[in-house]
Amino acid sequence: MAFRASVLTLYPEMFPGPLGASLAGEGLRTGLWSLETHQIREHGIGRHRNVDDTPAGGGAGMVLRCDVLAAAIDAAVPENDTRPRLLMSPRGRPLSQRMVRDYVAGEGVVIVCGRFEGVDERVIEGRGLTEVSVGDYILSGGEMAAMVLLDACVRLIPGVMGKEASGTEESFENGLLEYPHYTRPREWEGRGLPEALLSGDHARIARWRRERAEQITRERRPDLLNPSPLGGEGGSAKR
Ligand code: SAH
Repeated sequence: MAFRASVLTLYPEMFPGPLGASLAGEGLRTGLWSLETHQIREHGIGRHRNVDDTPAGGGAGMVLRCDVLAAAIDAAVPENDTRPRLLMSPRGRPLSQRMVRDYVAGEGVVIVCGRFEGVDERVIEGRGLTEVSVGDYILSGGEMAAMVLLDACVRLIPGVMGKEASGTEESFENGLLEYPHYTRPREWEGRGLPEALLSGDHARIARWRRERAEQITRERRPDLLNPSPLGGEGGSAKR
Protein backbone atom coordinates (compact mmCIF):
# COMPACT_ATOMS: atom_id res chain seq x y z
CA MET A 1 0.00 0.00 0.00
CA ALA A 2 1.23 3.47 -0.86
CA PHE A 3 2.73 5.75 1.77
CA ARG A 4 -0.02 7.87 3.35
CA ALA A 5 0.60 11.16 5.11
CA SER A 6 -2.11 12.78 7.26
CA VAL A 7 -1.26 16.25 8.50
CA LEU A 8 -3.16 18.09 11.24
CA THR A 9 -2.58 21.82 11.03
CA LEU A 10 -4.09 25.27 11.47
CA TYR A 11 -2.73 26.13 8.01
CA PRO A 12 -3.79 23.38 5.58
CA GLU A 13 -3.37 25.87 2.72
CA MET A 14 0.40 25.55 3.18
CA PHE A 15 0.20 22.00 1.76
CA PRO A 16 1.33 20.43 -0.49
CA GLY A 17 3.43 23.56 -1.06
CA PRO A 18 6.90 22.50 -2.13
CA LEU A 19 5.85 18.86 -1.93
CA GLY A 20 3.63 19.48 -4.96
CA ALA A 21 6.62 20.37 -7.14
CA SER A 22 9.28 18.28 -8.86
CA LEU A 23 9.48 14.52 -8.32
CA ALA A 24 7.59 14.55 -5.02
CA GLY A 25 4.70 16.35 -6.75
CA GLU A 26 4.79 13.91 -9.66
CA GLY A 27 4.65 11.04 -7.18
CA LEU A 28 1.70 12.69 -5.45
CA ARG A 29 -0.20 13.08 -8.71
CA THR A 30 0.50 9.52 -9.82
CA GLY A 31 -0.48 8.02 -6.47
CA LEU A 32 2.94 6.81 -5.32
CA TRP A 33 2.08 8.55 -2.06
CA SER A 34 -0.90 10.50 -0.73
CA LEU A 35 -1.36 13.55 1.46
CA GLU A 36 -4.43 14.65 3.34
CA THR A 37 -4.66 17.70 5.55
CA HIS A 38 -7.03 18.20 8.47
CA GLN A 39 -7.92 21.64 9.78
CA ILE A 40 -7.55 21.57 13.57
CA ARG A 41 -9.81 24.63 13.85
CA GLU A 42 -12.81 22.57 12.73
CA HIS A 43 -12.70 21.14 16.23
CA GLY A 44 -12.31 24.51 17.93
CA ILE A 45 -14.50 25.67 20.78
CA GLY A 46 -17.59 27.87 20.37
CA ARG A 47 -18.67 30.25 17.67
CA HIS A 48 -15.12 31.48 17.17
CA ARG A 49 -13.68 27.99 17.02
CA ASN A 50 -11.00 28.78 19.57
CA VAL A 51 -8.08 26.37 19.55
CA ASP A 52 -5.72 27.95 22.07
CA ASP A 53 -5.70 29.42 25.55
CA THR A 54 -3.36 31.06 28.03
CA PRO A 55 -0.71 28.89 29.74
CA ALA A 56 -1.64 27.39 33.08
CA GLY A 57 0.67 28.97 35.63
CA GLY A 58 1.02 32.12 33.57
CA GLY A 59 3.62 33.28 31.12
CA ALA A 60 3.79 34.51 27.59
CA GLY A 61 2.00 33.17 24.55
CA MET A 62 -0.79 30.71 23.99
CA VAL A 63 -1.06 26.93 24.17
CA LEU A 64 -2.96 24.61 21.82
CA ARG A 65 -5.79 23.04 23.80
CA CYS A 66 -5.60 19.29 24.46
CA ASP A 67 -9.34 18.71 23.99
CA VAL A 68 -9.36 20.44 20.60
CA LEU A 69 -6.29 18.61 19.35
CA ALA A 70 -7.57 15.25 20.62
CA ALA A 71 -10.89 15.78 18.82
CA ALA A 72 -9.02 16.63 15.62
CA ILE A 73 -6.83 13.53 15.95
CA ASP A 74 -9.79 11.27 16.73
CA ALA A 75 -11.70 12.56 13.71
CA ALA A 76 -8.74 12.25 11.34
CA VAL A 77 -7.20 8.96 12.46
CA PRO A 78 -9.20 5.74 12.92
CA GLU A 79 -8.41 3.86 16.11
CA ASN A 80 -6.98 0.85 14.24
CA ASP A 81 -4.61 3.07 12.23
CA THR A 82 -1.11 1.78 12.99
CA ARG A 83 0.88 4.64 11.47
CA PRO A 84 3.21 6.47 13.87
CA ARG A 85 1.63 9.63 15.30
CA LEU A 86 4.23 12.34 15.25
CA LEU A 87 4.24 15.79 16.80
CA MET A 88 6.73 18.19 15.26
CA SER A 89 8.52 19.69 18.26
CA PRO A 90 11.93 21.20 19.05
CA ARG A 91 11.96 18.93 22.12
CA GLY A 92 11.64 15.84 19.96
CA ARG A 93 14.08 13.20 18.81
CA PRO A 94 16.28 14.73 16.12
CA LEU A 95 15.14 13.47 12.72
CA SER A 96 17.68 11.12 11.12
CA GLN A 97 17.97 9.17 7.88
CA ARG A 98 17.45 6.02 9.93
CA MET A 99 14.11 7.29 11.24
CA VAL A 100 13.11 8.33 7.72
CA ARG A 101 13.85 4.81 6.42
CA ASP A 102 11.73 3.32 9.19
CA TYR A 103 8.78 5.58 8.35
CA VAL A 104 8.99 4.71 4.66
CA ALA A 105 9.07 1.00 5.48
CA GLY A 106 5.66 1.44 7.14
CA GLU A 107 2.30 2.63 5.81
CA GLY A 108 2.92 6.32 6.34
CA VAL A 109 2.73 8.88 9.12
CA VAL A 110 0.28 11.06 10.98
CA ILE A 111 1.81 14.46 11.72
CA VAL A 112 0.52 17.06 14.16
CA CYS A 113 1.86 20.57 13.53
CA GLY A 114 2.17 22.71 16.64
CA ARG A 115 1.78 26.49 16.76
CA PHE A 116 2.04 29.21 19.39
CA GLU A 117 4.08 28.23 22.48
CA GLY A 118 3.28 24.59 21.87
CA VAL A 119 0.62 22.05 22.77
CA ASP A 120 -0.91 21.01 26.09
CA GLU A 121 1.30 18.17 27.38
CA ARG A 122 -1.72 15.98 28.20
CA VAL A 123 -2.63 15.34 24.56
CA ILE A 124 0.93 14.19 23.84
CA GLU A 125 0.47 11.53 26.52
CA GLY A 126 -3.21 10.84 25.91
CA ARG A 127 -2.88 10.26 22.16
CA GLY A 128 0.59 8.69 22.22
CA LEU A 129 2.31 11.34 20.13
CA THR A 130 6.02 10.91 19.38
CA GLU A 131 7.87 14.23 19.31
CA VAL A 132 10.24 14.72 16.36
CA SER A 133 12.56 17.69 15.85
CA VAL A 134 14.16 18.90 12.62
CA GLY A 135 16.98 20.67 14.42
CA ASP A 136 18.09 22.84 17.31
CA TYR A 137 16.32 26.05 16.35
CA ILE A 138 12.78 27.35 16.73
CA LEU A 139 10.34 27.57 13.81
CA SER A 140 7.08 29.48 14.08
CA GLY A 141 5.06 26.33 13.45
CA GLY A 142 5.30 22.63 12.73
CA GLU A 143 4.26 22.87 9.07
CA MET A 144 7.68 23.40 7.53
CA ALA A 145 9.15 20.79 9.84
CA ALA A 146 6.46 18.36 8.61
CA MET A 147 7.39 19.18 5.01
CA VAL A 148 11.04 18.47 5.76
CA LEU A 149 10.15 15.09 7.24
CA LEU A 150 7.80 14.23 4.36
CA ASP A 151 10.27 15.32 1.68
CA ALA A 152 12.93 13.09 3.20
CA CYS A 153 10.46 10.17 3.22
CA VAL A 154 8.91 10.66 -0.21
CA ARG A 155 12.19 10.65 -2.13
CA LEU A 156 12.83 7.12 -0.80
CA ILE A 157 9.50 5.74 -2.03
CA PRO A 158 10.24 3.36 -4.92
CA GLY A 159 9.46 5.05 -8.21
CA VAL A 160 9.53 8.64 -6.96
CA MET A 161 13.13 9.37 -7.89
CA GLY A 162 13.59 6.82 -10.66
CA LYS A 163 17.16 5.72 -11.18
CA GLU A 164 18.60 8.58 -9.19
CA ALA A 165 17.34 7.09 -5.97
CA SER A 166 20.43 4.98 -5.58
CA GLY A 167 20.32 6.25 -2.02
CA THR A 168 23.00 3.96 -0.76
CA GLU A 169 25.98 6.24 -1.37
CA GLU A 170 24.41 9.35 0.07
CA SER A 171 25.46 11.20 3.20
CA PHE A 172 24.48 9.31 6.38
CA GLU A 173 23.56 6.10 4.55
CA ASN A 174 26.88 4.48 5.47
CA GLY A 175 27.53 6.57 8.57
CA LEU A 176 29.67 9.03 6.57
CA LEU A 177 29.16 12.34 4.84
CA GLU A 178 29.35 12.07 1.09
CA TYR A 179 32.46 12.47 -1.04
CA PRO A 180 32.71 15.58 -3.28
CA HIS A 181 31.10 15.61 -6.72
CA TYR A 182 32.47 16.91 -10.00
CA THR A 183 31.20 17.16 -13.58
CA ARG A 184 32.10 18.99 -16.80
CA PRO A 185 33.97 21.09 -17.75
CA ARG A 186 37.23 19.31 -17.22
CA GLU A 187 38.91 22.59 -16.33
CA TRP A 188 37.20 25.62 -14.79
CA GLU A 189 38.87 28.85 -13.64
CA GLY A 190 42.16 27.05 -13.38
CA ARG A 191 40.72 24.18 -11.35
CA GLY A 192 41.02 20.70 -12.78
CA LEU A 193 39.47 17.40 -11.75
CA PRO A 194 40.97 15.04 -9.17
CA GLU A 195 43.40 12.64 -10.88
CA ALA A 196 41.72 9.54 -9.52
CA LEU A 197 38.38 10.38 -11.15
CA LEU A 198 40.02 10.55 -14.59
CA SER A 199 41.85 7.26 -14.19
CA GLY A 200 39.02 4.99 -15.34
CA ASP A 201 40.18 2.62 -12.61
CA HIS A 202 36.99 1.79 -10.70
CA ALA A 203 38.71 0.38 -7.65
CA ARG A 204 40.91 3.45 -7.40
CA ILE A 205 37.92 5.77 -7.81
CA ALA A 206 36.02 3.90 -5.10
CA ARG A 207 39.03 4.11 -2.79
CA TRP A 208 39.46 7.84 -3.46
CA ARG A 209 35.80 8.52 -2.72
CA ARG A 210 35.90 6.49 0.45
CA GLU A 211 39.00 8.34 1.69
CA ARG A 212 37.53 11.75 0.90
CA ALA A 213 34.24 10.80 2.61
CA GLU A 214 36.13 9.72 5.72
CA GLN A 215 38.26 12.87 5.73
CA ILE A 216 35.27 15.20 5.34
CA THR A 217 33.39 13.34 8.07
CA ARG A 218 36.40 13.56 10.42
CA GLU A 219 36.71 17.29 9.79
CA ARG A 220 33.05 18.30 9.88
CA ARG A 221 31.15 15.69 11.85
CA PRO A 222 33.45 13.64 14.08
CA ASP A 223 30.35 12.79 16.11
CA LEU A 224 29.24 10.50 13.26
CA LEU A 225 32.43 8.45 13.62
CA ASN A 226 32.36 8.23 17.41
CA PRO A 227 28.74 8.00 18.45
CA SER A 228 28.18 8.82 22.09
CA PRO A 229 27.57 5.64 24.11
CA LEU A 230 24.68 7.43 25.81
CA GLY A 231 22.63 7.51 22.63
CA GLY A 232 21.97 10.29 20.18
CA GLU A 233 21.85 9.60 16.48
CA GLY A 234 25.59 9.62 15.82
CA GLY A 235 26.58 7.01 13.27
CA SER A 236 22.94 6.12 13.28
CA ALA A 237 22.50 5.12 9.68
CA LYS A 238 24.40 1.91 10.24
CA ARG A 239 22.47 0.61 13.18
N1 SAH B 1 7.87 27.17 22.94
C1 SAH B 1 8.37 26.05 22.20
C2 SAH B 1 8.54 26.38 20.70
C3 SAH B 1 7.23 26.58 20.00
S1 SAH B 1 7.44 26.88 18.30
C4 SAH B 1 9.71 25.62 22.79
O1 SAH B 1 10.41 26.46 23.30
O2 SAH B 1 10.05 24.45 22.69
C5 SAH B 1 5.84 26.48 17.66
C6 SAH B 1 5.70 25.12 17.00
O3 SAH B 1 6.58 25.04 15.91
C7 SAH B 1 6.03 23.93 17.87
O4 SAH B 1 4.91 23.52 18.62
C8 SAH B 1 6.42 22.88 16.84
O5 SAH B 1 5.28 22.22 16.31
C9 SAH B 1 7.02 23.70 15.72
N2 SAH B 1 8.50 23.70 15.77
C10 SAH B 1 9.28 24.74 16.09
N3 SAH B 1 10.59 24.43 16.02
C11 SAH B 1 10.64 23.14 15.61
C12 SAH B 1 11.72 22.22 15.36
N4 SAH B 1 12.99 22.57 15.51
N5 SAH B 1 11.39 20.97 14.97
C13 SAH B 1 10.11 20.59 14.82
N6 SAH B 1 9.05 21.41 15.06
C14 SAH B 1 9.31 22.67 15.45
